[in-house]
Amino acid sequence: MTNTSENQPVADPDEPFLTLDLTKMALDSANVGIWILDAVSRKFLPSNRSKILFGFLPEEQVSFDDALLKVAGKNRRRVLAAVEKAIKSRGNLYVECPLNMLTEKKHRWLSIIGGFSTSDLNNNYFSGIVVDITEQKQNDLRRSRFIGIVSHELKTPLTTLKAYVQMLNNWAKKQKDNFSIGALSKVEKQVRKMLNMINSLLNLSGAEAGKIHLTKQTFSLNELLNEVMEETLFITASHQISMTPCETILINADRDKIEQVLVNLLSNAAKYSDAGTSIEIACALDDHEIKVSIRDQGLGISPQNIEKLFLPHYRVESKETEKIDGFGIGLYLCSEIINQHNGRIWVDSEIGKGSTFNFSLPV
Ligand code: ADP
Repeated sequence: MTNTSENQPVADPDEPFLTLDLTKMALDSANVGIWILDAVSRKFLPSNRSKILFGFLPEEQVSFDDALLKVAGKNRRRVLAAVEKAIKSRGNLYVECPLNMLTEKKHRWLSIIGGFSTSDLNNNYFSGIVVDITEQKQNDLRRSRFIGIVSHELKTPLTTLKAYVQMLNNWAKKQKDNFSIGALSKVEKQVRKMLNMINSLLNLSGAEAGKIHLTKQTFSLNELLNEVMEETLFITASHQISMTPCETILINADRDKIEQVLVNLLSNAAKYSDAGTSIEIACALDDHEIKVSIRDQGLGISPQNIEKLFLPHYRVESKETEKIDGFGIGLYLCSEIINQHNGRIWVDSEIGKGSTFNFSLPV
């Protein structure tokens, strides 16, 4: 039997693609823009789609500074710092930012990802992609509004509960009722833990809505450090926490929010290191800034993860961390709070050796 199809030209399944620019087609359909930045001359080459995503017309000449100016207010410094850091360290860039769009009611959000080519280590072309993530951000915002309302509702009764437990504990101490003292101290510990969590959730919803309001006052940083250290020892008690004494430092900042930063950093130091290891707190003052650092002997963090650590909901995924609970919001909140104070936050870390989380505030 003859197969009639044998005499007909066989369609090459790859043939249509030979005439098309595959990469362009894929980028177009995924609405992804590409860009190249010469790390030396700073010449910026955005694709037409990148220009459109940044709010320009395809025919416009767009420099790096023009694109940066489209980034909404406070975020500009953060984006520039992330780009400079990635170029300087020849590392990767991953940044999310809102744009000022004059014609649109809501902010347009972009995710910008980039790095140097790994195939040619001597090139100076820093390149990457840009993607519109507005819809995802809108969903995040809806979710965080919900979290804000729920945590606000939970906070009021819990604060009352804490006050009554403390009163009862004081009463039990007067009565020398050891059983009640023990039981009430445990209740108080759990209530304080819950209040810390609820404060984080409340700040998260504020931060995601771009509304972290600072109520500044002048206070002694040393006193706050001591208070937070004692609070962490009370709640955790599993680590040796020590503080290198530093000179009296008065700062003008939002005390509750800086306290929250310290609570987050200290509880992370305890969470991501073995019980019994030490955690050291240090602070130093120079002409124009005060630096606080918290050093642990824990898991450590790889350079690839360090870049994304301060993004909302980012958690390191590894065999060790999968057993440790968390929402991935603590460090995001810390960076939002410190940035609002015009400070800096960063981490030095080595896998298996431990991490030092640092932040500085202008004085
Ligand atoms: P969470 O601890 O709730 O996951 P965070 O935002 O506080 O959220 O931290 C984000 C991630 O950073 C954590 O999931 C963890 O993997 C990593 N991390 C934070 N602090 C440390 C630390 N001191 N040592 C090692 N890894 C850490």
